[in-house]
Amino acid sequence: MSERTLVLLKPDAVRRGLIGEIIGRIERKAGWTISALELRSLDQATLEQHYGEHQGKPFYEPLVAFMASGPVVALVVEGERVIEGVRALAGPTDPIAAAPGSIRGDFGVIVRENLIHASDSAESAERELKIFFPSAV
Ligand code: GDP
Ligand code: MG
Repeated sequence: MSERTLVLLKPDAVRRGLIGEIIGRIERKAGWTISALELRSLDQATLEQHYGEHQGKPFYEPLVAFMASGPVVALVVEGERVIEGVRALAGPTDPIAAAPGSIRGDFGVIVRENLIHASDSAESAERELKIFFPSAV
């Protein structure tokens, strides 16, 4: 069963020149396709919507500031089990806990600057795709 997920390459990934590296890993998974892709700067309202579940947590304000600190690459990826699959490619939130071989495990050190966002469930994907690609939903 084909699914769609929202992926964001965070400002650290863009600044460090890792767009190609990370998108390459996603592209190489058999049968997955990128159906939308855009470099864009995120405003406060978009970030508040996207990270609403984290409002009030100690890391929320610095997270939003970081996500607005430079452009991100937003993608829609489609394919078999792609929601679970991109999360597996990314690795856990803390890059030091993430296994080598995962995107966060290979390239990240600090928790906030962990390179990639990927929707964590079908419900999150639907909600997030509406925020970033309303015309594609
Ligand atoms: P994700 O789904 O793996 O991206 O993690 P969450 O949804 O829990 O958190 C959203 C983002 O907030 C993470 O990707 C990190 O960039 C950041 N974050 C989460 N937890 C922490 C934390 O404990 N400390 C800091 N500094 N940042 C965090
Ligand atoms: Mg999350």
